[in-house]
Amino acid sequence: MKVNAHDFAQEYTLLECIQCGRCTGGCPVSLKTALNIRSIIYQALVDDAIEVNGMDVLWDCTNCLTCTIRCPKDVHPSDVIIGLRGYIVGEGKGVPPRVRDALMSAFTRGNTLGFATEDRDKWTEGLGFEVKNVLEAGETDVLFYVGCTPAYDPRIQPVTRALATIMHRAGIDFGTLGVDEMCCGNEIRRIGESEGFESMVEEFHEMRKEFQARRMVTVSPHCYNAFRNEYGDLGFPVYHYTQFLVELLETGQLTFDKEVRKRVTYHDPCFLGKHNNIYDEPRQVLRSIPGLEFEDLDRSRERSVCCEGGGGRMWAEGTNIEERLAHQRVRDAIALGAEVLAVSCAFCLLTLEDAVKTLGLDEQIQVMDIMELVAQAT
Ligand code: SF4
Ligand code: SF4
Repeated sequence: MKVNAHDFAQEYTLLECIQCGRCTGGCPVSLKTALNIRSIIYQALVDDAIEVNGMDVLWDCTNCLTCTIRCPKDVHPSDVIIGLRGYIVGEGKGVPPRVRDALMSAFTRGNTLGFATEDRDKWTEGLGFEVKNVLEAGETDVLFYVGCTPAYDPRIQPVTRALATIMHRAGIDFGTLGVDEMCCGNEIRRIGESEGFESMVEEFHEMRKEFQARRMVTVSPHCYNAFRNEYGDLGFPVYHYTQFLVELLETGQLTFDKEVRKRVTYHDPCFLGKHNNIYDEPRQVLRSIPGLEFEDLDRSRERSVCCEGGGGRMWAEGTNIEERLAHQRVRDAIALGAEVLAVSCAFCLLTLEDAVKTLGLDEQIQVMDIMELVAQAT
């Protein structure tokens, strides 16, 4: 499929581009695949048309945002990728099969993982307390937005349960949308399915009319990003759970009574760090855990390296599956002497844990969500 390059360049303000190459220079993926965002932009500037069929490198991008942050001319190269993917998705040809399945499942079942809609609240089983259904109750202090992977993935469910337990013990009035909660659409938008994403936003706003809430807390940085930046006015602020934990620590609603004697480092998720500048709160929570020794990786905060789980990459294999950024990340953590590589994102947990297993390094390092470390200390 050929995209009119002139119109595309206008729509994405590419005429501002001075071809300095800082976008590609900062792109972690371009170090391992043929993805070159500067040259894609060049093509849009000098050619009549961009041929997107067969442009498999578009699916290598993790939407980590490094290119956009580094661009001196305020061009948004990461949006260029999303825009071009949109043409592929619109035509329906050349979408990687697992990406297609995730899209289909998000629209038919409300989750990207292919699970049954009615099982969305199964994670609450065995908690020992009831989780309020906000749609039935009509009001809540905290709307706990769980998200697809934290609701269904057996590896992430303990993280979700631990957060609910902390809120319950702290006496927080919280509840969820139960089985009516739907995918937030953060990755759906980044896959290029913008119309589908807009309909998700509209559906949420319809549901929003049915309850009162003072704030929203999300497990995932991806849900946090979508609701905070892409849903318009929700009528309440959105918190990632690490921000919420800091508040609970400051008010004394969360206290620790056990030591966690571990050397820990932290991997910044792109959708919390680069997309939303939340670097301090996760570190603040880790540093407050008694007995825990914290040290930052060399490449951290704004310089952090992506785990390759974002922007739809959980489902697209990419053009170079041998060399994974998650492998580098795990090796960096081990070189630092860490026993635990902490994360605050379900995708990071899954990709980094997979890297540890693939490399056979289970004896040397463990990947844990911050929430799991907090649970060990309470
Ligand atoms: S960093 Fe910005 S100005 Fe430089 S090549 Fe990339 S898009 Fe163009
Ligand atoms: S968003 Fe990240 S992976 Fe995608 S082109 Fe930009 S720097 Fe590369």
